Amino acid sequence: MSFGSWRRDRLTMRKLFLSDEILMSVEKSARYIGNEVNSVMKDPNAVSLRFCMCFPDVYEVGMSHLGIQILYEMMNRREDVYCERVYSPWPDLHKIMKEKEIPLFTLETQQPIKNMDMIGITLQYEMCYTNILQVLDLGQIPFMAKDRGNEDPIIIGGGPCTYNPEPIAPFFDIIYIGEGETSYDALFDLYIEERKKQDYDRMTFLCKASQIPGLYMPALYEVTYKDDGTIESFGPIYEDVPKKVVRQVVTDMDSSPYPTAPIVPFVQAIQDRAVLEIQRGCIRGCRFCQAGMIYRPNRERSLDVLKGYAKEILASTGHDEISLSSLSSSDYTQLFELVNFLIDECCKDGVNISLPSLRIDAFSLDVMSKVQDIKKSSVTFAPEAGSQRMRNVINKGLTEDDIFGGAKQAFLGGWNKVKLYFMLGLPGETEEDMKAIPILGNEIAALYYETVPKENRQGKCQITMSTSFFVPKPFTPFQWARMYTPDEYLHRAKVVNDTMKEQLNHKSLRYQWHHADVTVLEGVFARGDRRVADVILYAYEHGQFFDAWGEFFSMEKWVEAFDACGVDMDFYTMRERDIDEIFPWDYIDVGITKEFFKREWLRSKEGQITKNCKDACNGCGCMTYNCGICIR
Ligand code: SF4
Ligand code: SF4
Repeated sequence: MSFGSWRRDRLTMRKLFLSDEILMSVEKSARYIGNEVNSVMKDPNAVSLRFCMCFPDVYEVGMSHLGIQILYEMMNRREDVYCERVYSPWPDLHKIMKEKEIPLFTLETQQPIKNMDMIGITLQYEMCYTNILQVLDLGQIPFMAKDRGNEDPIIIGGGPCTYNPEPIAPFFDIIYIGEGETSYDALFDLYIEERKKQDYDRMTFLCKASQIPGLYMPALYEVTYKDDGTIESFGPIYEDVPKKVVRQVVTDMDSSPYPTAPIVPFVQAIQDRAVLEIQRGCIRGCRFCQAGMIYRPNRERSLDVLKGYAKEILASTGHDEISLSSLSSSDYTQLFELVNFLIDECCKDGVNISLPSLRIDAFSLDVMSKVQDIKKSSVTFAPEAGSQRMRNVINKGLTEDDIFGGAKQAFLGGWNKVKLYFMLGLPGETEEDMKAIPILGNEIAALYYETVPKENRQGKCQITMSTSFFVPKPFTPFQWARMYTPDEYLHRAKVVNDTMKEQLNHKSLRYQWHHADVTVLEGVFARGDRRVADVILYAYEHGQFFDAWGEFFSMEKWVEAFDACGVDMDFYTMRERDIDEIFPWDYIDVGITKEFFKREWLRSKEGQITKNCKDACNGCGCMTYNCGICIR
C-alpha cells in the first residue's frame, strides 16, 4: 500500500473517544476529533510500531509547527510505523478528563496514548514544561522515567529545549539531540527488533539505543555537585555508554523528507498557511541567539526543489497564503529568483505571500510593495539594541546607516509604520544603552518628517518599539552571563519609557515591554540542572500548567514551589558563571567548540565584531559536518 492510498482510505466511520455530551460542553471541540485533510489513516494493527507525536500546547499552536509536520510525514512513509498526534487538552477538557479519569488519546485512531510504543514530545519553549507533565498525567503514564515498566511507552523529548534537557531529564527515557530526520529510523529498527524478543526489557533497549548517534538517555548518566552547588562531575554510569552525545544534522536538505501535503487544521491555527522552509541555520553569529548557533551550519534548499514544493503544497491544501520559513530570509542566496517565481505562480491565483525575517533594504521593500498593502502594513527592524556600542557587543552586524537607510527607503516607498524590536538586560548594558532605544525611535520619526513632504504624508508616522528581557541560553557566547531581578528589569523598561516621553517626536512613538517574572523563570529553566525537575513536578501537582499563557501563569505559585523544594532561583539567574564552570549541558557535543564560545564571550566584553560565515569562517567547529556554508 502506498503512502497516498493510506490518505485516501479514511476511516470515515471512526468512533470518537469523547462523548457528544463532553464535546458539546468544551470550547472548540474540533481540537479533539482529528480526521483533518491530509491526516494519515492506517490500520494500527498492521504496523510494528505506534508512535505518538506530541506538541505540549493547545491544538492551534501545535498545528502551526512545521517540525511536527516534517516528522509526521517522514515516519508515516514507513509501512511498519504509524505516527499519530496529540496536543494539550485545554483546561476545560483537562478538568473533565481528571474528574472522569478519561485517558488522553490520539487524534488519528482516538485511542489512549498509553497504548503507543513511543511518544515524542517536542520542546519548543521552556514555559511548556508543566504541560509535559499534564500530557503524562492525563495519559496515565508515570511522570518519572524510573517508574515506567515494559508496557509503558518510551517517552522521547526533542526540539530546541533539549540543548539543556537537565531540568526535565528525569521525565524522559530518551532525549533526541539534533534534527529529527536523522536518527529515528535506527531507533525504530532497534525497537522493533528488541520487541520481538520474549524477554524484552526496557532498560536493555535503552542501553542499546544509547549507541545510536544523537540519543541521550538521562537514566544512564549521573551528576555530582560541589558544596557551592555547581557541578563537580557528570558522566555515564556504564563504560560503553558514550561520554558525549553528538548533535545530528541533515547534511543534504534537498533529499530530506518534506511535507508537501501537510495536515490542514480544523480550528484556525496561529499560523494558518502553507510553509516553505527555504534553509536551515543562519550565517550570522548574534551572540545572544541560540537558534543561530544550534542550527549551524547554514544549509539551503535548492531553488528548483522549493518551486516544486510550493506548487504541491498549495495544490494539496488549498491555503491562500504561503510563507517562507527561515531564520534570516534575506541571506538565502536565491531569494530574488524564488520570490519572483512565487509572485508569478501564486499571486495570479489570489494567494498571498508572507516574507518574515527580511532585512529592510531596496530589494525587500520592492518585494513587500508587490505582495502587501503598504497602507496597512509596517516595516520591521530588529536592531535588538539601541546603541551601536551594544549592537557590537551582541554582534548584531547592523549599523545606524543600515537602519536609517532602510527606514528612508521605506518612507519614500509609502510606508509610515515602523516596528522596532529590542532586548533589555543584555550583558554589560548601561543606562546610556537603555536610553538609546527611544532616542533611535525618535530619530527614525524625525527622518520621516524630513523625508516625506507634508502633502505626501498619510498622517503621522507610527514607530512602535517593543522590548523583551534577555534570557541567556546554553550554547551561546552569553551562556556565562548573569541575569537580573524582576524589579531591575522593570527599572530598565522605566528608563526607556521615561526617556521616550522626553523626545521631540514622542507623539509618534509607542512602547511595549514584556513581563519580567516569566523571564526569570525561563532563565532558571534554560540553564537549570536536574534539581529543578522537583520544582516543575511540585508546581504541576499544585495546579500549574499552560504557563506560556499569561492567564494561567502565577509567579506566587512558582515561588512557593521553589521554596517547598529548597531550590534557590538566584543560583541559576544571578551569577556570572566562572569561565571554566562545568555546565549541565556540557556532555552535548553541539558541533561548536566551547573554545569558540569562550572566545566570543571575551570578544563581546571588548565590543569586538566577528564576521558572519559568508564573509569569513571563524572556525566554530561545524566544519566536521562537512555541509552547507562550511563547504560552499
Ligand atoms: S540573524 Fe542573528 S538573531 Fe537572527 S537568527 Fe541569525 S544569529 Fe539569530
Ligand atoms: S565552520 Fe566556519 S563557515 Fe562553518 S558554521 Fe562555523 S564559522 Fe561558519
